[in-house]
Amino acid sequence: MHLGAYPRIRLGHFPTPLEFMPNLTKHLGGPNLYIKRDDCTGLATGGNKTRKLEFLVAQALEQGADTLITQGAVQSNHARQTVAAAAKVGLQCKILLEQRVTEATDEYEHSGNVLLDRLLGGEIVGRYPAGTDMQQEMEKLAAELRSAGHKPYVIPGGGSNPVGALGYVGCAQELLNQSFETGLRIDHVVHATGSTGTQAGLVVGLRSSNSGIPVYGVSVRAPKDKQEENVWKLVQATVDYMGLPTSSVERADVVANSDYVGDGYGIPTDSMIEAVRLTAELEAILLDPVYSGKGMAGLIALIRSGHFKKNENVVFVHTGGAVGLYGYRQLF
Ligand SMILES: *Cc1c(COP(=O)(O)O)cnc(C)c1O
Repeated sequence: MHLGAYPRIRLGHFPTPLEFMPNLTKHLGGPNLYIKRDDCTGLATGGNKTRKLEFLVAQALEQGADTLITQGAVQSNHARQTVAAAAKVGLQCKILLEQRVTEATDEYEHSGNVLLDRLLGGEIVGRYPAGTDMQQEMEKLAAELRSAGHKPYVIPGGGSNPVGALGYVGCAQELLNQSFETGLRIDHVVHATGSTGTQAGLVVGLRSSNSGIPVYGVSVRAPKDKQEENVWKLVQATVDYMGLPTSSVERADVVANSDYVGDGYGIPTDSMIEAVRLTAELEAILLDPVYSGKGMAGLIALIRSGHFKKNENVVFVHTGGAVGLYGYRQLF
């Protein structure tokens, strides 16, 4: 595998730190908990979309684009990082926001990521009711821009296509390098999974290198079967895009659960609130209410149910999003 052969621009601070969490480890009585700090990618408060955007925006520039278009939930970390990436390379950025969370507070609607979208110069084209075909809305806007003489580049929600997934193939390599440098044997990788690019990239990177490290996705939206199927589709597309042998990854390598979604995407759960609090109070690390908080809630529940051996080393990938806390002030 030769990631350097793909067009990429530098948007973030890499490698991100891999840190031990001694207090959380002690509090939970093992296994040994490590955290991969992809909340520290550095692009306007960071997060996991930065790795994907390094490849996606490079392709947009190669194609001569003048405008990026993307979509997400109102408090989308992806939309915010895309706006930031556009600012950095001098492109226009138009974002479409889906109102997936009903009964949202004023803070949810206007603070956190939304505030940063505006500050970074993004244009919020519109807010759409939950369930809107957002990809179709983006294509419509792109067609309008094209007929007005512009060159739009459409980035799918979460930046999750084979080009974006390369970012997490790269993260897998980075993690293996850190494992080698520090002599840390990694037994499990756990993270929050949504639009699937993160998990698909990690699975491709960790399996095709034959590392033997399993990846466990904690779904924040879709039911288990659907989430695994969606990840598997992107795994296959990424393997194909990279020209890897189709046998590099198997269906059984894609594992997710949906036990910590609660009532739905972006809707708080008690276990999320506990996870966000514990990680803040014990490790001074800020998780977010929509993704990493539910991911950590899943990890804590797996630990309490005896899923891991006490002497194993588990890496939680912190995918970012703490800015979203400002949209949920009343919870904390
Ligand atoms: C987008 C996002 C995720 C999920 O990553 P996917 O690649 O979409 O599955 C997890 N955490 C945060 C903070 C995110 O913004």
